Amino acid sequence: MAGVRAHPIPAKSVTIVGAGGNIGSQLVHHLGRMHEIGKVTLIDQDVYEPHNLRSQDIRVQDVGRPKSDVQAQRLVAMRSRLRVVSIPAPLETVPPGKLRADLILSCLDSRRARQDVSRIALRLGVPWIDAGIEASVSLARVSMFLPGPERACMECLWDERHYAALDQAYSCLGARIHASPTQAPSSLGALAAALQAIECDKFFSGGTKAVAFGSETVIDAAHHKLQATSFSRNHGCRLSDHSVWKIEPLTRSPGEVSVAEALELGDAGKDTRGGRSLRVEGSPFVTRLICSGCGRERALLRHAASLTPDIQRCGQCRSLMTVRGFDLLEGLEESRLPERVLRRSLQSIGLRKGDVFSVEGPEGEKHFEIVPSRRTTTQAPKEIARD
Ligand SMILES: [Zn+2]
Ligand SMILES: [Zn+2]
Repeated sequence: MAGVRAHPIPAKSVTIVGAGGNIGSQLVHHLGRMHEIGKVTLIDQDVYEPHNLRSQDIRVQDVGRPKSDVQAQRLVAMRSRLRVVSIPAPLETVPPGKLRADLILSCLDSRRARQDVSRIALRLGVPWIDAGIEASVSLARVSMFLPGPERACMECLWDERHYAALDQAYSCLGARIHASPTQAPSSLGALAAALQAIECDKFFSGGTKAVAFGSETVIDAAHHKLQATSFSRNHGCRLSDHSVWKIEPLTRSPGEVSVAEALELGDAGKDTRGGRSLRVEGSPFVTRLICSGCGRERALLRHAASLTPDIQRCGQCRSLMTVRGFDLLEGLEESRLPERVLRRSLQSIGLRKGDVFSVEGPEGEKHFEIVPSRRTTTQAPKEIARD
């Protein structure tokens, strides 16, 4: 219509987990060219090494730099108005809220990391497209998942063998977990990345109906075959609860909210003191560290995903302090917490901006994401902003 300016289409956001590897490094530039996308978050814990020059889309001067930073810089160079966030950290330490986007893309070689993405995407209610390759047999794959109680999650497709092959998760908390490097040809990574970018394009131009969510496409490049498989919800899935969470924003800084106040969020103000508990899904609370070098022990209380190498460094011999299985708590039960712990801040037990915690109370479980507003003050009333 003449004289009427169309409303600009709201910019979409994407998170890429494993953003700098064999597939990710071939994917990023496609996203830079999709102008519906206004924000990209890149997560990758690795640094480019000389051998990556053979299998990944990088240049000599990128060697020695964090992969997520290199790819972020590349995106900004392509489109200066794109908002780009680089998170050069292991996925298991990244607060789940930082993955929040219109679409999550993953390009990972670790099954454990894919399991983490699957669970985070489900709880946040974000559609997820995973890409993978099997270099030894020249397969490239793209798998599309939509969160929902009656929809298949990635673990719906797994059997005992898949779980047996999972990386050792908590054997040595904080030590970097690496799958064997995929010495895959860059062409195979590029094939998987192109499949993923095509689905991403469909999603942003046509919505969820345009993508065959709940299915997988595999290209067998060795034999020129293509196979499409659809998934259905497996009621024997180890992740028995497939609910998308209603997550309320907690707009105060984690340093200003005590554990007791957080527990009070779990009910409607009734006197239910003592019966509530607080947990962080996928990240148990660590109560003690033990030094792998000198055997020294240290009591603490932090949720596992928030442990950093600094915290885990032994003050005596500088070795890494690790966690034993019996020094983990699935959640904090109010009735068992001493007063001094109830008075501690959420920050002091490891909760950060973007973390999601759950409080179980008499009315069931409620979920909160820490999203401090810029203008928080210490006098701020105890409140949760709602959209
Ligand atoms: Zn499932
Ligand atoms: Zn020590």
